[in-house]
Amino acid sequence: MGKRKSRSEPAPKKIVKLETTFRCPFCNHGGSVECTIFYKKSLGEAKCYVCSENYSTTVTPLTHAIDIYSEWIDACEAANCDEDDDGANY
Ligand SMILES: [Zn+2]
Repeated sequence: MGKRKSRSEPAPKKIVKLETTFRCPFCNHGGSVECTIFYKKSLGEAKCYVCSENYSTTVTPLTHAIDIYSEWIDACEAANCDEDDDGANY
């Protein structure tokens, strides 16, 4: 139940800055998703350099990379419910 293969990850480092790279929800590659925020355009983008999946959303001056990533994950989960492909979740 909910147990997934996952590579062991390095111990968390001290947070010295906001992370802008995350695990890809599609290929599950750690740190392959990079979030970019264009505050002037109120646009945020997240893109995986491994599988080239990407997501874009509108941002506010308070939006951080993690927020874009979170939205993407939410969108993915919603899409997964929709597709009901192989029942990989749960
Ligand atoms: Zn990916």
